[in-house]
Amino acid sequence: METVDAVVMSGPGRPLERRSFAAPRAEAGGAVLEMVASEVCGTDVHQHHGHLAGVPYPVIPGHVSVGRVLETGGPLLDLEGQPIAAGRLVSFYDVFRICGKCWHCLVAKAGTRCPSRRVYGITTSADEGLLGGWAERIELKPGVRVLPLPEGVEVEDFMGGGCGLPTGFHAVERAGISLGDTVVVQGSGPVGLSALAFAQLAGALRVLVVGAPAARLEAARRLGAEDTIDVLEATDPAARVRFVRERTGGRGADVVIEASGNPQAVVEGLEMVRDAGRYVVVGQYTDAGDAALNPHRHLNRNHVTLLGCWGYEYTHLHRATQMLARHKSRFPFRSLISREYRLAQAGEALADMERLAVVKALIRP
Ligand SMILES: [Zn+2]
Ligand SMILES: [Zn+2]
Repeated sequence: METVDAVVMSGPGRPLERRSFAAPRAEAGGAVLEMVASEVCGTDVHQHHGHLAGVPYPVIPGHVSVGRVLETGGPLLDLEGQPIAAGRLVSFYDVFRICGKCWHCLVAKAGTRCPSRRVYGITTSADEGLLGGWAERIELKPGVRVLPLPEGVEVEDFMGGGCGLPTGFHAVERAGISLGDTVVVQGSGPVGLSALAFAQLAGALRVLVVGAPAARLEAARRLGAEDTIDVLEATDPAARVRFVRERTGGRGADVVIEASGNPQAVVEGLEMVRDAGRYVVVGQYTDAGDAALNPHRHLNRNHVTLLGCWGYEYTHLHRATQMLARHKSRFPFRSLISREYRLAQAGEALADMERLAVVKALIRP
């Protein structure tokens, strides 16, 4: 029997394991990919610490990936109705089984909150098959939305942004940026860096980035940040608020996007936004604790619009990828890839991501 290898996270805090699986065959309406590149992101680190609710360990991590189509279960079409043949380089929407018929889907129109929703590498168990990217092959279930990489977009261009691309894109869409706005992005990981790029395409006059460490802030400047402040150097939150206010006539930024993962950043960000400005929280993907707001000062009196942003829909992945194809020379996401690791080095990749030694880390078979 032909077998393929995958890396399995068997439980919180447990060392990663290498396991062999029977080589999958494509189900009707599905496909099997030969993995080309997957990513390591902050989510994988949280998952390894058991900070994500509802993870059905053992899991094969890796939610956003690129692969080559090995086999399809019958004709597989892209959204334009064009066939996706074996050999094609594709990514896919890592979320599947959004049901389209529940209260969340039909009444609230909040597909990212559909209770049936599953996510590759996060809410899929290794007992169900190769449903994560840290594997030699990936099984695409029927109904998984396959996205061929557009003409001119190479694996590294796409994976340099990875899951940050659609997440940052969604946050920018939520932010409703107007032409000429000054935007602050809190956090300089892949989500923050993607939000920085898309905010400029959405018409921001300038974007300021509050983050760390230095290599990530350098990347922010490469992607067009007008100015950056390092939270490891400017350790006083008041100094960081001053940094923003000094650059906005004392008023604060029109839009602030939080992509840091630190609950205290939300309080700080509400000090950075101008009266009647907009604030989007996208970085609190795991429950990292509470933060105390002053409802009078932070919300009511300053007349701010405060928005949450959970996950992303296929539309965000699709449009973010199209925008990347058009603007990749201006926004060189591939330059964010600090290092590539083989499957056998996945543990090392996870440790490097945790101590922020890398901006983006790729896993290769
Ligand atoms: Zn639903
Ligand atoms: Zn991710």
